[in-house]
Amino acid sequence: MDTSAYIKSHIRTVPDWPSPGVQFRDITPLLQNPKVFRVLIDQFVHRYFDVKPDVIAGLDARGFIIGAVLAYELNVGFVPIRKKGKLPFTTVAETYELEYGSATVELHTDAVKPGDRVVLIDDLIATGGTMMAGKRLLERLGATVIEGAAIVELPELGGADKLRAAGLPLFTLVSFD
Ligand code: AMP
Repeated sequence: MDTSAYIKSHIRTVPDWPSPGVQFRDITPLLQNPKVFRVLIDQFVHRYFDVKPDVIAGLDARGFIIGAVLAYELNVGFVPIRKKGKLPFTTVAETYELEYGSATVELHTDAVKPGDRVVLIDDLIATGGTMMAGKRLLERLGATVIEGAAIVELPELGGADKLRAAGLPLFTLVSFD
């Protein structure tokens, strides 16, 4: 089995969660198994070892789990992009549309410096709205997002293509049709 198939075989699909019609791609089995967790993190470490970004930015909440470990391995800093109302210091905020309603994400104003080269990471890209909002936050503070990274992309929803078309290179390991 190749690495992508090995990782994919440890992602659990939960139908109709959190709402009818959604196929939730649950990464917790990946994290529970130390061998596959290491294989997973190593994929990202190898991708960014030579590139050596200045900062890893993780998207709330599963992006924190893989992003923090990746930052530790690369010996660079980690910054969290959080859902509204969670960050204590001054923030910049971006609101984006969801299927029903909207969501807001925030970033501390001192999280990155102008010119920082950032890798933005989450567990999964669906419509791409969350990652796009994260990119805008980082760019508002003068940073450059050199790549978006995720374990999973869902090509059917078009988010990954939209992000690539907006000029954000993406690195993903697994895709579900
Ligand atoms: P989006 O902004 O539409 O790209 O959604 C991405 C965010 O929502 C990520 O933080 C994912 O963790 C979560 N998400 C969206 N759809 C799914 C899904 N089918 N399975 C697991 N997580 C999802």
